[in-house]
Amino acid sequence: MHNSQLEVLINDKGLSAPLRVIAQKVLAQERISIEEGVLLYEEGPLGYLATLANHIRERKHGDRTYFNRNFHVEPTNVCLYTCTFCSYSRLIKKREEGWEYSLDDIMDIIKKYDDQPVTEVHIVGGVLPQYDVAFYSELFQQIRAHRPDLHIKALTPVEYHYIFKKAKMSYEEGMKAMKEAGLQSMPGGGAEIFHPEIRDQIAGGKCSGEEWLRIHEVWHELGCRSNATMLYGHIESYYHRVHHMDLLRNLQDKTGGFQTFIPLKFRNKGNQMSHVSESTIIEDLKNYAIGRIYLDNFEHIKAYWPMISRETAQMSLAYGVDDIDGTIDDTTKIYTMAGSEEQTPAMSTKDLVKLIRQVERHPIERDTLYNTVMDFKDHVFEDDNQYKGYLSLPVLNK
Ligand code: SF4
Repeated sequence: MHNSQLEVLINDKGLSAPLRVIAQKVLAQERISIEEGVLLYEEGPLGYLATLANHIRERKHGDRTYFNRNFHVEPTNVCLYTCTFCSYSRLIKKREEGWEYSLDDIMDIIKKYDDQPVTEVHIVGGVLPQYDVAFYSELFQQIRAHRPDLHIKALTPVEYHYIFKKAKMSYEEGMKAMKEAGLQSMPGGGAEIFHPEIRDQIAGGKCSGEEWLRIHEVWHELGCRSNATMLYGHIESYYHRVHHMDLLRNLQDKTGGFQTFIPLKFRNKGNQMSHVSESTIIEDLKNYAIGRIYLDNFEHIKAYWPMISRETAQMSLAYGVDDIDGTIDDTTKIYTMAGSEEQTPAMSTKDLVKLIRQVERHPIERDTLYNTVMDFKDHVFEDDNQYKGYLSLPVLNK
């Protein structure tokens, strides 16, 4: 931990008094207010934010940087809703352009990974009537029966709100039924921006911010864990972002059930918001850092490398991020269809480990609940010591 770096900031007369107070609070492990969060966005210099966020990151995790070997299954990309930022879904009237997998189709996909060392299946997709409580219960049961060691992380409150309403079930009854069927964790999607001023404009009539939070609360009350996202960099203000994080922080105080905060960068390809420009890399890094500073009760901040590029993901590790996510193969279309940096988001474990080591962090493969699966700090890959041929290059200018 670098207390001295924070002390330099606290005493830096070049910084405004409120920014020095925030540095003091971070050192004392005190929480910052909504107003202070907005001030960080408006006035926090990048280097200052990095110092604060990295201090918290290293206090919690040292150099440890987590990744998870998982794969995605997306039952459909046809959707009843019309979120304006969504590049992924096809409206029902154009459903022939999309895909709608049956239960057997999905199980076939899952079986393709039988000999792969993956620990988690991440299931999420569009919302359609045939994907209901009965469908997902059967799916979870079949996955459990087929491969009990595979952790099922599936669906967001967007789907749950819809399917429970259709089945006339309360959130409590519905989430309990999902757990009994084999659901183990909930991913963080569908959160977008909670504030109705923004949500009403971008989120096409799907569950409200309160409903999203309530479903996570019910899930946490069942003793289970989940994640939370925030879609940033479109039409929201800094206040809307901090308001969003504030609601997450409040719920986390109540339940402690969130594991990870995942800021998702808005991409403008192939959606109804193509006229909105995208955030800069500087803004992305600031956003990770402020997420780390604001959400003092979240253990982890995750960067999704296919969305922001490998290089920005590496940099993010100095701005509060301690977890790098990304499928190990090309199993998700959500981000590639939105114009993300990586159009074929595949990275081998070795590449991911190398990416983390290059910036002098300590790679750890984790399972969904952050138990260590393998420590890659000193791991030597089979071909690391193999002769690569560079010694045979001709010597020039002899
Ligand atoms: S973001 Fe989700 S709910 Fe909204 S249109 Fe896309 S798939 Fe449907």
